[in-house]
Amino acid sequence: MTDFRVNGLVIRETEHKDNDKLLTVLTEKYGKLYVIGKGVKSLKNRHMASSQLFAYSSLNLRKTGNNLYYITDSDLIENYYEIRNDILKLSLATFVCDVLCEVSREGTEDISILRLALNTFYAIAKDIKSLEFIRASFELRILTECGFMPDLSHCRDCGCELPSIATLDIMNGNFVCNKCMEKISFTNAENTFFDTGMQRPVSIISDSVLQAMRYVCTSRQERFLSFRLDESEQEMFFQVCEKYLLNQLERGFYSLEFYKSMI
Ligand SMILES: [Zn+2]
Repeated sequence: MTDFRVNGLVIRETEHKDNDKLLTVLTEKYGKLYVIGKGVKSLKNRHMASSQLFAYSSLNLRKTGNNLYYITDSDLIENYYEIRNDILKLSLATFVCDVLCEVSREGTEDISILRLALNTFYAIAKDIKSLEFIRASFELRILTECGFMPDLSHCRDCGCELPSIATLDIMNGNFVCNKCMEKISFTNAENTFFDTGMQRPVSIISDSVLQAMRYVCTSRQERFLSFRLDESEQEMFFQVCEKYLLNQLERGFYSLEFYKSMI
């Protein structure tokens, strides 16, 4: 097979035999690709810089069977060195990579996921916002890019426009207004958030947090961090975005626990 050229971001690196690495590379045209970097653990290797975690490069790849590729040429575009030099940034970016690995698919064109990854790394590297602000916004926006945007416009039961405080059903990604919540509590001791005896997670959301969520989901992607949220409301925003991500993906992340243990 002939070589082909792609721009790709390394989102995972694992040990391979000898001086090789097995890389997971997120590309625009082909989604996630598994790439063998031959000899790239050696400092003398010409593809060494492009084969590190967080490296974004123009790569020439050649297929080597079993959906594996290897690098025949590489030009580093960006390596986000500021992330590598700060343990907190490094651990947050590692969590971002783990989420990207989880949601991206092999062989499918997906420009928006790669673009979001690059925007997020840039924001972490350059301190565009606090790390927690970036993390929460990324968590919500990546779900939106994957088709899991919560319904942020209306109450799911009565269809009214959402009032200043509403309840988010984390599992279903929709809201219930206060009036409907009262009815639920009145007619049903358990309420409809209880499902076969198990409580589904819910979050009470204020108007500013709802506005912030709407902004993150619907803004032009390169502007997804360009909003303000009062300091007193930020914790609620951080919590709901994290809960929403973990529940929608139905898993936890060791890298997230590690990052959180340090903040
Ligand atoms: Zn309602």
